[in-house]
Amino acid sequence: MKYCKKCIIPITRPEQVFNEEGVCDACSSAESKHTGIDWDARRSEFEKILERYRGDGSIYDCIIPVSGGKDSVSQALTMRDEFNMSPLCVNHLPCDLTEVGWKNLIFLRDLGFDVIHVGANRKAYREMTRIGFFKLGDCCWQEHIGIFTAPVRVAVQYRIPLLIWGENSQFEYGGPASKRENNYLDRNWLEQFQMLGYRISDVVLDGINLNDVKTFHYPTDEEMKDVGVTGLFLGYYTKWDSKKNANRAISLGWNRNPDGPVEGAYNDIENLDCKWIGGLHDYMKFIKFGFGRATDQLCIEIRAGRMSREEAIENLKNSSEGEVPWKFVPDFLEYLNISKEEFEANLDKFTNRRLFFCDDSGRLIKDSQGNLKRRYPLWEL
Ligand SMILES: [Zn+2]
Repeated sequence: MKYCKKCIIPITRPEQVFNEEGVCDACSSAESKHTGIDWDARRSEFEKILERYRGDGSIYDCIIPVSGGKDSVSQALTMRDEFNMSPLCVNHLPCDLTEVGWKNLIFLRDLGFDVIHVGANRKAYREMTRIGFFKLGDCCWQEHIGIFTAPVRVAVQYRIPLLIWGENSQFEYGGPASKRENNYLDRNWLEQFQMLGYRISDVVLDGINLNDVKTFHYPTDEEMKDVGVTGLFLGYYTKWDSKKNANRAISLGWNRNPDGPVEGAYNDIENLDCKWIGGLHDYMKFIKFGFGRATDQLCIEIRAGRMSREEAIENLKNSSEGEVPWKFVPDFLEYLNISKEEFEANLDKFTNRRLFFCDDSGRLIKDSQGNLKRRYPLWEL
């Protein structure tokens, strides 16, 4: 396995580009984030744009898509308290909300924000989860669409043209260079990075009526034009720092994961809202590409200069990355009405056999907890 020389991201990460020195593009953009960008200029550029939209507080003058996570809390506070905007927060409810996720959404309202919860037709949502899990190998595929479509639909229907997204993940985590400098989010961005090559209209092929998945439809170009919808990344105009966002939210009373680090993760402050986005979603990434959430989180620590590469490797070894996230599996089986055997067989189907050991008959080797055995020992990192 080949890894970035600066962080610990492996070359198996999709869309990751390594330069000639063996450094990944996320590390390269992190460097330019600290040195190559005039953040004051970006901020005044942002101020100028906001002037065109800012009202007197009697109406909502921007929409902020929120999950209730630390970043969305910080986004809402920044827009209201630093930029004097009057935001409406829009939350697309996950398949199955955790207790702590619900607490944090209430916390957001306690901070003085109005929140619209978009609760999609649960029958169709469940069938989309089935497609994601069995066909695309990502149990949260549909959730990642709804997060990006529902707020835009609300923008159109409430006629609030300005949407403020958080980070541009291509800039923060790496991706095609042309998209890294992007300051806006549109349909192309969504289709290129979130849909896994499966368009929303494709669900009909799997027996889902398109009329039942309205919240997952990106509005038409005409609708967008009529309202003048513009979606901007706050992370383009102000220096994005997840750690700072977390500290700010926690100091105000925001809740961490109650039982320590999320399964497969290094920290206890990300992906707390959905029962399977933290555990199962990341585990499915692990079996396909050989790395999970802890790796991503530790890379961010390295790039921010808060951790050395050696410390990150130690922390990765001590994390639960790569362990089957059993905690919410019973809920998942019940949600899809499937057996544990079907569940495990599907995980095996998506497991990259070049990354994990098999026995002589080609069956994946697992320990008593169902955990796979890596062919690429971490001490080689
Ligand atoms: Zn790197």
